Amino acid sequence: MKFLPVAEPDLSQLETDYVMDAMKSGWISSLGAYIERFEVDFASLCGTKHAVSVSNGTVGLHLVLVALGIQPGDEVVVPSLSFVATAAAVRHAGAIPVFVDCDPFLGNMDPAALENAITTKTKAVIVVHLYGHPCEMNSINEIAREHQIAVVEDAAEAHGAQYHNRVVGSLSKAGVFSFYGNKILTTGEGGAITTDDSDLNQRLRFLRDHAMDPKQRYWHPEVGYNYRITNLQAAMGVAQIERFDEIMAKRRNVLEQYRNSGIDEKFGVQFNPFVDHCLPAPWLVCCWLPSDLVRHREEICLSLRKKGIDTRPFFHPIHLMPPYQHFEKVAADRTDELRNTEVVSLQGFNLPSSPSLNAEEISYICKNLHQQLEQCVLKSLTQ
Ligand SMILES: *Cc1c(COP(=O)(O)O)cnc(C)c1O
Repeated sequence: MKFLPVAEPDLSQLETDYVMDAMKSGWISSLGAYIERFEVDFASLCGTKHAVSVSNGTVGLHLVLVALGIQPGDEVVVPSLSFVATAAAVRHAGAIPVFVDCDPFLGNMDPAALENAITTKTKAVIVVHLYGHPCEMNSINEIAREHQIAVVEDAAEAHGAQYHNRVVGSLSKAGVFSFYGNKILTTGEGGAITTDDSDLNQRLRFLRDHAMDPKQRYWHPEVGYNYRITNLQAAMGVAQIERFDEIMAKRRNVLEQYRNSGIDEKFGVQFNPFVDHCLPAPWLVCCWLPSDLVRHREEICLSLRKKGIDTRPFFHPIHLMPPYQHFEKVAADRTDELRNTEVVSLQGFNLPSSPSLNAEEISYICKNLHQQLEQCVLKSLTQ
């Protein structure tokens, strides 16, 4: 069996054709017909009025914060259980990340923890639809409305996910997406910001392009950024969006095969827990271990690796990493020590999730996972 990585992009002839077409047109930088097409198509996929393409998801988060007027010293509430970019973007804006805890079932931001973390300095909250599962947006939006703070969705892992039949990225002031190579849709590197707010849309476009005065070329009334996407990347993105249903069906099918393996019932493992009012996006397959097997996580992953099966531990709590430890104190006074975050972070790992995985490969992975879990149960009994 060949090595099975956690994530591989799903690219077809269509991506090749569009990228070649863009290349041959000579429009290889940040002007070109594919960019507008990509933005229109992506906005339509998310059900928003606008989508602003950017170079990657991280700068997308930064740009939104700047466009919303977040200033150095302002506080922005973020989950500690996320990819580090969520918090890094807050620091790029000079603001203070206030880390809050997650719920223990999905790992998403706990609305009660958000409420506890808000002060007079709080200007915004970034929620993350972790591993493709939407956050409790009704509660979060209500708390935010009460305290008059902006809500931004970090939807980098959740393209097309639905909350009460509405698509993520359309459930707040702005949604931020990533099109990195291991995400649900990819442009190699790339990102987009979705919004219904036309003023915000204009402000994002202005800041993304060196803050050039729309009425006077090469006049820059503010310090701007070069956060543009290229026409080549957008061409790949247009093809990916055209193939969205196909890609999603393949990804859901991969997850379904894991669920049909019988491993969950036998060992008390959970593959991608979800709640009924949500349709999660099928990003990475998450294997949540029952509490008695958690201490075996490392050895399970090492043994799978020896069989050519790649895994990836859940995200480390951001508040434990060197550049962010200091900020934990800000939240610690107000929250309950981010306990769920530290538990969930150790609780599971991601399994190979590529749309290209075939039935034989998934059954090979499940057979080996089954074996490993069985050995761990035996060890637990004898220890
Ligand atoms: C991938 C990811 C990002 C960053 O996206 P890039 O395009 O890699 O910059 C931000 N937030 C989350 C939750 C992510 O998973």
